[in-house]
Amino acid sequence: MSKAKLRIVGVGLLTIFVGIYSCKKDTDNNTEATGDVSIISAVQANYISAVAIATSGSSITLKSNGLPNHKTPYWGVGNDLYEDFPAGFHANVNTSMSAHNYSMTIPSMPAKATSHEATTLGPIGMAINGVPIYNDREGGNIPLDSLTLTTFDYSGAHPGPGKDYHYHTTGRYTSMDDAKLIGFLRDGFPIYGRKDTTGAYPTLDEYGGHTGPTQDFPNGIYHYHAANVNYLNSGYFVLKAGSYYGTKGTFTQ
Ligand SMILES: [Zn+2]
Ligand SMILES: [Zn+2]
Repeated sequence: MSKAKLRIVGVGLLTIFVGIYSCKKDTDNNTEATGDVSIISAVQANYISAVAIATSGSSITLKSNGLPNHKTPYWGVGNDLYEDFPAGFHANVNTSMSAHNYSMTIPSMPAKATSHEATTLGPIGMAINGVPIYNDREGGNIPLDSLTLTTFDYSGAHPGPGKDYHYHTTGRYTSMDDAKLIGFLRDGFPIYGRKDTTGAYPTLDEYGGHTGPTQDFPNGIYHYHAANVNYLNSGYFVLKAGSYYGTKGTFTQ
């Protein structure tokens, strides 16, 4: 075979190789799509025993009374779990909390939604101790303001008019400057503290999450992070604002 012919064969083989490699890359991209990771084991391993877990078909139901397993002034003076407010903070008109019958049903293999529904006022998820997670809004659907922030305890939480204790932000008992699992949102995706397990603050998409490994999902899953923004310079960091990445399940109370 002449040198010229060898060169043509060589170019041909290179073209085939590049073709195969391109196909391989496409396949990899497809396997990165969400909806193929089960959250059942992570849910069972992380929720405290006071939260009842039931799996059924393709969904998981979590039931709790919504009361925190940690100190807060909202237990009331005299309770073993009572502690004072942070300096300068105090309750507003909503001074106490009570038990509820919360039930959150989420997909066991959460998937990206085709259209992303906005989170609204009320529970958008459940922390691993059964306390509801709220977004960055208060009554009237207005963003949390500095006055409302002064009703928070050390956990970035307070009760609303329904005596419904809930987390809006990071805090001492959920997550500070770390990679802790906080809970799961109503679309079935987990939410973590501000950091990844590598210690880095990840770059997040418009839903406040990204796909990658976590301590509970070493092979990777889409997950949210608390926003890495010191909210109104308060030292609190909003857990979740904006739209869901996946399709939300039900949350009844
Ligand atoms: Zn609130
Ligand atoms: Zn992450």
